[in-house]
Amino acid sequence: MSFAVPDSVRPVRDAVYAFMTERVEPAEPVLHAGGPEAAAVLDELRAQAKKEGLWALGHPRELGGGGLPFLDYVYVNEVQGRSEYGQLALGTYTLQDSLMLHEHASPGQRERYLEPLVRGDISPSFAMTEPSVSSSDPTQITTSAVLDGDEWVINGHKWFTTGASRAAYTTVMCRTEPDAPPHRAFSMILVPTDTPGYTIVRETPVLGLDGAHCEVRYEDVRVPAANLLGPRGQGFVIAQKRLGPGRIFHCMRWLGQAQRAFDLMCRRLHERAAFGEPLAAKQLMRQHVFDSYTEIQSARLLTLHAAGVVDSAPGAQARVEIGAIKVVGARMLHNVIDRAIQVYGAAGLTPDTPLDRMYRHARAGRIYDGPDEVHVDSVGRRILGTYAAGGSWEFGLR
Ligand SMILES: Cc1cc2nc3c(=O)[nH]c(=O)nc-3n(C[C@H](O)[C@H](O)[C@H](O)COP(=O)(O)OP(=O)(O)OC[C@H]3O[C@@H](n4cnc5c(N)ncnc54)[C@H](O)[C@@H]3O)c2cc1C
Repeated sequence: MSFAVPDSVRPVRDAVYAFMTERVEPAEPVLHAGGPEAAAVLDELRAQAKKEGLWALGHPRELGGGGLPFLDYVYVNEVQGRSEYGQLALGTYTLQDSLMLHEHASPGQRERYLEPLVRGDISPSFAMTEPSVSSSDPTQITTSAVLDGDEWVINGHKWFTTGASRAAYTTVMCRTEPDAPPHRAFSMILVPTDTPGYTIVRETPVLGLDGAHCEVRYEDVRVPAANLLGPRGQGFVIAQKRLGPGRIFHCMRWLGQAQRAFDLMCRRLHERAAFGEPLAAKQLMRQHVFDSYTEIQSARLLTLHAAGVVDSAPGAQARVEIGAIKVVGARMLHNVIDRAIQVYGAAGLTPDTPLDRMYRHARAGRIYDGPDEVHVDSVGRRILGTYAAGGSWEFGLR
C-alpha cells in the first residue's frame, strides 16, 4: 500500500478540490442562510458537478456512479469533506442508502427508490434511533410492524431521522419478530414520507444548527408487504452493514474538515502578532501545530488502512479498523478545530470564520453512528477475542 495519491486518482481529486474551493466554499454564506436562494445555488452546483463528471463518484459504476474503490475514494472524499455541503453538491449524500438498497432491494424497490436516489432526484432517510430507549443498544427498539393481510402496520416513535423533512422515504427499523432472539427480531421497511400516519413532530436543532433531524411518530402507518427490505428478521444485520461503510465515509470527510481548520490555524499564526512577534514564533502555539499535525496524520493513515482492509477482503466487515477510526477520527476533528478556534481568539467563536459551524458539527460526530464508548468497547472486545482464541492481532492488511 503506497501513501501517495495514485496517478489514476490525482486528476479527479484535483478537479474535486477545485470544485470545492472555487465554487462550494464561496457559496457557503448563501447556503447557510437557507431558503429559495440557497436551493437555487445548490441546484446549480449539482448541475455543474454532473456536467463535469464529478457526480456520485463513490457509487458503484453499475448504478451510474464513478465506481471508485474505498481506498481511492478516501483521497477524493477527504477533499469533498472540506465543506458540509460537499456531499449534497457532488451527489454522495445518498451513498450509504444506495449501497444498502443495491444489496437488498427488490427489482420494484430499485426502480422506485434506488435509481432516482443515485440521480439525485429523491433524498433518503433512515430511522433507527428512538427517544425512549438507549439506541446504542438497538435490540431495545420498540417501534413495531405487524403484517395485516398484504400490508405492514407500523406504530412507534423515532427521532434523529436526519433529512426526513426533505426525504421521499424513510427506511424504518421495526420489531417484526417479537418472539425471536434480539438480533433476529427486527426488519427494515421502506415507508414513503407522505404515508398517512407518518407525522414529523419537530426538527431538533443540534447545538443550534438546523440539520433536519426529525422526530417522527408512526400511528397505524400502512405500507404494502412488498416494502419489506431484505428478508424478515434481518434488520439488525442490514443496519450494521449500512453503518459500517457510513462510518468510514464520515472519517474520510473529517480529514477534509481537519485540513481546512489546520490551514486556517497555520495561516492565522503567521498573520497575527502579540507581544512583539508573530503568534507563529511562540512555542505554545507551535504545540498546537504539532498536536494537530500528528493527530491528523495518524487519523489519515488509520483511515487509509481501514479502506485498504475493506478493498483487500471484499465483504470484510473490518469492524476493528472502522470502529477505531470512528473514535480516533471524531476526537481528532474535535481537537483540531478546538485548537484553531483558540488560535483565532474571540473571532474563532463568531461566524466570521467557518470554524464555529465546523466545531458544532464535529461535536456530534462523537455521538452519531455509535458513541465513542461503544466503539472503544467493541474494538477492545474483538481484539481480546483473538487472544482468547489463542491467536494474536495482526496489524497489517488482513
Ligand atoms: C447529528 C446526528 C444525526 C443522527 N442521525 C441519525 C439518523 O439519521 N438515523 C438514526 O436512526 N439515528 C441518528 N442519530 C442518532 C445516533 O445514532 C444516536 O444518538 C446514537 O446511536 C446514540 O444513541 P442515544 O442517543 O440513544 O444515546 P444512548 O444510547 O442513550 O447513549 C448515551 C451515552 O451513554 C454512553 N454509552 C452508551 N453505550 C455505552 C457502552 N456500551 N459503554 C459505555 N458507555 C456507553 C455513551 O457516552 C453515550 O453517548 C443521529 C444523531 C446525531 C447527533
